[in-house]
Amino acid sequence: MALYVHKYGGTSVGTVDRIRNVAAKVGRARERGDDIIVVVSAMSGETNRLVALAREIQEQPNAREMDVLLSTGEQVTIALLCMALEQYGYPACSYTGGQVRILTDDAHTKARIVDIDTNRIRRDLADGKIIVVAGFQGVSEAGHITTLGRGGSDTTAVALAGALKADECHIYTDVDGVYTTDPRVEPKAKRLQRVTFEEMLEMASLGSKVLQIRAVEFAGKYNVPLRVLSTFGEGEGTLISFEDTEMERALISGIAFNRDEAKLTVEGVPDRPGVASRIVGPIAEANIEVDMIIQNIAEDATTDFTFTVHRNDYARALQILQQTCAELGARKVTGDDAIVKVSLVGVGMRSHAGIASTMFRSLADEGINIRMISTSEIKISVVVDEKYLELAVRTLHDAFELDQIGESA
Ligand code: ADP
Ligand code: ASP
Ligand code: MG
Repeated sequence: MALYVHKYGGTSVGTVDRIRNVAAKVGRARERGDDIIVVVSAMSGETNRLVALAREIQEQPNAREMDVLLSTGEQVTIALLCMALEQYGYPACSYTGGQVRILTDDAHTKARIVDIDTNRIRRDLADGKIIVVAGFQGVSEAGHITTLGRGGSDTTAVALAGALKADECHIYTDVDGVYTTDPRVEPKAKRLQRVTFEEMLEMASLGSKVLQIRAVEFAGKYNVPLRVLSTFGEGEGTLISFEDTEMERALISGIAFNRDEAKLTVEGVPDRPGVASRIVGPIAEANIEVDMIIQNIAEDATTDFTFTVHRNDYARALQILQQTCAELGARKVTGDDAIVKVSLVGVGMRSHAGIASTMFRSLADEGINIRMISTSEIKISVVVDEKYLELAVRTLHDAFELDQIGESA
């Protein structure tokens, strides 16, 4: 008898009929004699609806109360799914994150899981029940409800699978695996049979929302076998695994993109020690994460300093920079929040030169201007104008012949 953790995302439980469909799917897995723990998200659109309600009252809602509010979405789904399972004749029991005791730190709205008490779940499994756990939430040491950041149900599932040493963690969603890029943007995208943790981690951190980055981190760290599959069809999906020598090596495995970017530039900054920290310091103090950074040296002993932030932080970052600009005696601050980041990811890049030049040439051939560049061992990212997102993704997909790898969409 094996133990599986299944996770069903928002679209998969978006209506009562779909919840019934999930119950039937879980039931079939149970019939095969395995133990099943199910983690569910809120019904699709629900978390966004709750965020919007809060923002009607407070522009920056109180984080503790936000977590009390947001955690309700998942609580609805666990109860409805258990009812559907009971209806089909499968004994089931639902738990919120706090009831399981998924212990987290106290960083409200972006808490990290610290420990999971598995006793209650083990007892219920021994009694022959299917366990249904609310994703995306936990409880802090002091007993406050916490949430794990958007997309956090993936992390709940992986963490439970790790804590209970499950045989596999299945992430069921509205696509049948991890693709070479988002199939909504490039219909020629292909499903990957396997992808390494390292590549998946890069793809998630560069904007592919198919898996939450913390879930991938956790699975890699605790060696949890992880698979992404379709809720609505059959098929083996995509296995996320450690690199092994037999793995067929594609040069590039995917293209990720992030629409949530904005860039800011301080022009004409006196070029002297400490300037970078004077610029970035106040931004970090305001809890704004800085992503790509570029500094140019100009001939007149001044420099331009450019960096990117999340688009939600753009207005605040601009305000802070105006202040810094005056203090430093810089010329002016400019910004642009209609930019996106497009990235090529692949462990095969390590051993191949020339990827960057092919990337830059194919974008140039389409008249796409590159505004910023950053590279690491297994990725190359460029910032381009937002209007070029689809064109850039499709151009690169063609240039690297990604429709020739994996299986058809
Ligand atoms: P869920 O609600 O099940 O958690 P998400 O919306 O979070 O689902 O993630 C699934 C979506 O991720 C897909 O519908 C797809 O549009 C998007 N996506 C982005 N990049 C990729 C990729 N490389 N492969 C597959 N799906 C991707
Ligand atoms: N419901 C949460 C969200 O929409 C968590 C999740 O779906 O994973 O972000
Ligand atoms: Mg998701």
